Order: sequence, then C-alpha cells, then structure tokens
Amino acid sequence: MKVTEHLANSQKTLISFEILPPLKGKSIESLYNVLDPLMEFQPPFINVTYHRSEYIFKRRPDGSFEQVVLSKRPGTVGICSAIRYRYKVDTIPHLVCGGFNKDATEDALIDLHYLGINNVLALRGDAMKSESEFIASENGHRYAVDLVRQINNMNKGVYLEDDLENAVCTDFCIGIAGYPEKHFEAPNFKTDLKHLKQKVEAGADYIMTQMFFDNQKFFDFVKQCREEGINIPIIPGIKPIVNRKQIASIPRHFYIEIPHDLAEAVEKCKDDKEVARVGTEWCIQQSKELIEFGVPCLHYYTMGRVATFVEIARAVF
Ligand code: FAD
Repeated sequence: MKVTEHLANSQKTLISFEILPPLKGKSIESLYNVLDPLMEFQPPFINVTYHRSEYIFKRRPDGSFEQVVLSKRPGTVGICSAIRYRYKVDTIPHLVCGGFNKDATEDALIDLHYLGINNVLALRGDAMKSESEFIASENGHRYAVDLVRQINNMNKGVYLEDDLENAVCTDFCIGIAGYPEKHFEAPNFKTDLKHLKQKVEAGADYIMTQMFFDNQKFFDFVKQCREEGINIPIIPGIKPIVNRKQIASIPRHFYIEIPHDLAEAVEKCKDDKEVARVGTEWCIQQSKELIEFGVPCLHYYTMGRVATFVEIARAVF
C-alpha cells in the first residue's frame, strides 16, 4: 500500500522507522535484530536509506596510492524486499540522484515495480566526501525535483525511450525531503521553500522532514508550507540525542540547532548513560507534542538503537 493510503486510512498518528542497510560483509540478521522488537508497534512502513559509493585512496605495497570505489552499505532494494517478505510491511527505498544516470534510475525503478514496491523517497543525495559540492553524474539529475519528474513520468507510462509502445504505467507514491531549519545550501528559507514547492508541483505526494529538536521549528515550517500552497502531508522525522558528542556533531553534519535547554541538560550529565536518559525523555516529550499537534505519522531515525526506540514508542504509542 502507498504511504498516502496508510495516512488517509488511519484515524490516529502512525509510527514508522528508518533503518540503514548493514555494513558490507555483515549479516542481514543484524537488521532483523533491530526490526523484530520494533514490530510490536506495527509500523505500516519502514524506510531504508541509500548510501552512494565513495572514492578512497588505498596505499599500494610500493607506497603509492590508488583510487578505489568503495560501497559501504549496499543492498537497499534487496533489504526492502526482504523486509516485506519477513514482516509483511511496506518499505520505502531511498533513491538518490548522486552516482546514478537517468538510465540506471529507470532500471532501478523498473526493478522496484516488478517487486511490487510502490513507495520511494526521492532525494538528491549529498556530495561525495571527496567533492566540495554535489556533482551530478553524466546524464544524471542535478536536483531531486528532476528525479521526481522522472518517476512521475513513469507513472504516466513515459520512459526514457520515447518509442516504447503501450509502456506500462508504474504507480509510485513519491516522498521528498523537507527541512524545517532550511537545507544548508539554500541561500534563505524562502528560496528553499520555493524549491520544495517545485518538487510538489513535479508530482511529490508527501514530505518527510530532516530531524529537529525544537518542535516550534516544525510548527513554523508546516505553517509556511501551507501559506505557500504546499498542501501534501508532512511527516516529521526525529531521533534522540544519546551521547555528549552529538551536541556538536549533529549541528555540524545536519545544520540544525540543539535547543539551549537540551544542550544545558546534556552538559550537566556525568556520563553518556545519563545523556541518553535526558535525550530519550526529550524525544518522548517532543513526540507527545507532535501527536497533539496532529501529525499524520511520527518517523524515527533509529540508527540501530533498538532499546531506545522501544522505550520511546512504548511511552508514546
Ligand atoms: P534537493 O531538493 O535537490 O535540494 C538540494 C538543494 O538544492 C537545496 O538547497 C535546494 O534549495 C536547492 N535546489 C533545489 N532545486 C533547485 C533549483 N532548481 N535551483 C537551485 N537550487 C535548487 N541522503 C542520502 O544520501 N541517502 C539517504 O538515504 C538519505 N535519506 C534522507 C532522508 C530524509 C528524510 C532527509 C531529510 C534527507 C535524506 N538524505 C539522504 C540527505 C539528502 O540527500 C541531503 O540533504 C541532500 O543534500 C539534499 O537532498 P534533497 O533531496 O533535499 O535535494
């Protein structure tokens, strides 16, 4: 079933989780160990992230270096299929522009369609670590909006080869990313919102947000989206702080703020166990307030921390 159908069919706030594919060489059992306990909360869908390959330099025995391509967490589509088979829940593979050309994207979408997976989260992806800014692949997409257009075209039976006869229409429900605190590359919030609207006009069905720790930022974001004429469902994505390092690393990596009260409370903790307690309690309160606000679904970035999310979900749902 599509995400939008799940949202429309439910009278109460739904719960969903995002998971990462295991590191290459690790068993899929490590994922099941995370998901098995979370199934208690009957998530209607699970998101599976995509991690593009990176270039790294490897030292040769003679001391020189060679550039090699490393794919650390492959298997997004296979994992989506395995999860559907094992738990009978819908899955949302994340699809990115980076590292793909349009043909490879089309082939990936055809695979998903054959597998009966009709939800995707359409993203641009970040720059490779070796690049200072995002560079599109040759004949690939520069922005997520272009990917949304390609998927929407396939939903109308329009493929890259324009002479295909009676090409089957896919039926993807298209999610996109939204940023309550603005995407870091956008010159200002209004411009970012304009680009978000372009993705909606290109055929996106719902928005899933970047994490935030201050609900007011999310409430303001929803208000501004509605004023801008963006009327599709907006699903907040959140996660708890679980160690002291995150107070600096989250703002650095995700360009979001940690509220003063939360940062102060973390500073007063004597160890990471206490930090996790404070962070978990904050996340529970955030969740309760978001439900009261009337969000259609609460999406949790699990990062493999199953016990934390079982505790949060039990306290909230
Ligand atoms: P876009 O919508 O293309 O926006 C990127 C930037 O370009 C923004 O600043 C926007 O304002 C600007 N822009 C858009 N259109 C135009 C235009 N026409 N002209 C000029 N500027 C424009 N990354 C992964 O690699 N794998 C994942 O699995 C993954 N999952 C994610 C899940 C969620 C819920 C979120 C919020 C993010 C996720 N990301 C993931 C990160 C995401 O790929 C990055 O944040 C990326 O930098 C931007 O992606 P986007 O889809 O928002 O890009």
